[in-house]
Amino acid sequence: MKISIIGCGYVGAVTKACLAELGNGVCFIDIDDKKIKKIKSCQSPIYEPGLDALLERNASRISTSTSIQEGITGSDCSFICVGTPSNEDGSINLTYIKSAAVEIGNALRTMKNHTVVVKSTVVPGTTEDVILPMLEKHSLKRVKEDFSVAMNPEFLKEGSALNDFFHPDRIILGIGDERGRTVLGELYRSFSCPKLCTSIKTAEMTKYVSNAFLATKISFSNEIGNICKKLDIDVYEVMEGVGLDQRIGPKFLNAGAGFGGSCFPKDVAALIALAQQKGENPILLKSAIEINEKQPGRLVELLKSRVGELKNKRIAILGLAFKDNTDDIRDSRAIPVIADLLERGADIAAYDPMANEAMEKIYPSIRYCPSAAEALEGADGCLVMTEWPEFAELQPEFDRMRKKVIIEGRRILSCEGYEGICW
Ligand code: NAD
Repeated sequence: MKISIIGCGYVGAVTKACLAELGNGVCFIDIDDKKIKKIKSCQSPIYEPGLDALLERNASRISTSTSIQEGITGSDCSFICVGTPSNEDGSINLTYIKSAAVEIGNALRTMKNHTVVVKSTVVPGTTEDVILPMLEKHSLKRVKEDFSVAMNPEFLKEGSALNDFFHPDRIILGIGDERGRTVLGELYRSFSCPKLCTSIKTAEMTKYVSNAFLATKISFSNEIGNICKKLDIDVYEVMEGVGLDQRIGPKFLNAGAGFGGSCFPKDVAALIALAQQKGENPILLKSAIEINEKQPGRLVELLKSRVGELKNKRIAILGLAFKDNTDDIRDSRAIPVIADLLERGADIAAYDPMANEAMEKIYPSIRYCPSAAEALEGADGCLVMTEWPEFAELQPEFDRMRKKVIIEGRRILSCEGYEGICW
């Protein structure tokens, strides 16, 4: 099949490379010329383990374009993978989706039997009530008769995205008509996981509910962790016992500094905004966000309780991306932590194996180090923010600190003498 993918970010780049690996001809389309240049030279535009190798292996099946009109011409289906960030009030911002829809519509004027698949996370109703009318208006064609629309939400996790693509728990297919069903059925034919065909709206909602549930599970664990710490109980031992209950499951029960990234915070906020527009007051979802926003402050307070006033204290921050194995800093918990420390006058030395450069764009004034050892040199305190495997190996490096106060926001360390945010 010939597929074009619009947006070469964390989802688009992975989806394209993986669809090429399955034998499809894939055109990478992005308005960002730098990303397209990287892909042309078989380099991934984002850091994702294994992606460079996959691009190189499938180079003969991959083409690129910075123009939607040029890129999708001649393809059987196109996937929209552009970003859907938040507006100030938390509601979904559809600017990128709308501009992509205009261009796809223009391209559809000269195309036949094309299927447009929305993979970006969009609130229920967006595909049929916003994107589809724009496609019809700009193509001067009719959905179902001339082209098809479908919705296929993405569930990959950055850092393990390739494995998640090839071994998903399930595939959700929001189907608008028979042509869309056939195209997506063919595309995912080789996958043995459950495939659920739903309405387009249901597919859109399934994505939000999955993320909202996982975010709530994390905030629940963090609240329990905060209580456990006061009671001198190890929340990880508690959650091990809790997670063995098959109704609950062991994943996403790790207490810590809270969730970040490009999905959970913005998707829960968008669901809250949508619910409120419909006259609902989603108390549980609001609490999940409120707990999450307070965790970074608790981390800094704990640090202060151990090292005293933070003014002019040298603080090492290990881990800047929102999690390990990615360079993505969107809504990383390190962002509010750095803001808080700067406000208190701390002198910050930061290190992340992949995300120093990205964080430097937000906080150019702090010191970025090429290694954890260098960040720890002479530090009065250290905050470990993410589970990068190399942090688990740190032992003698902590001896470089002036005062060995080590606080963990994620449980990874094996060294002596550290304290966890919730344990
Ligand atoms: P991203 O910001 O990393 O990438 C989006 C890309 O789209 C950018 O490269 C941008 O230049 C490009 N773009 C924007 N407008 C364009 C246009 N008109 N034409 C061509 N390219 C255009 O975003 P992402 O993290 O890949 O997320 C994409 C969507 O997938 C979002 O809706 C997100 O919520 C969802 N999602 C993300 C993840 C994740 O882990 N990142 C997981 C599941 C779902």
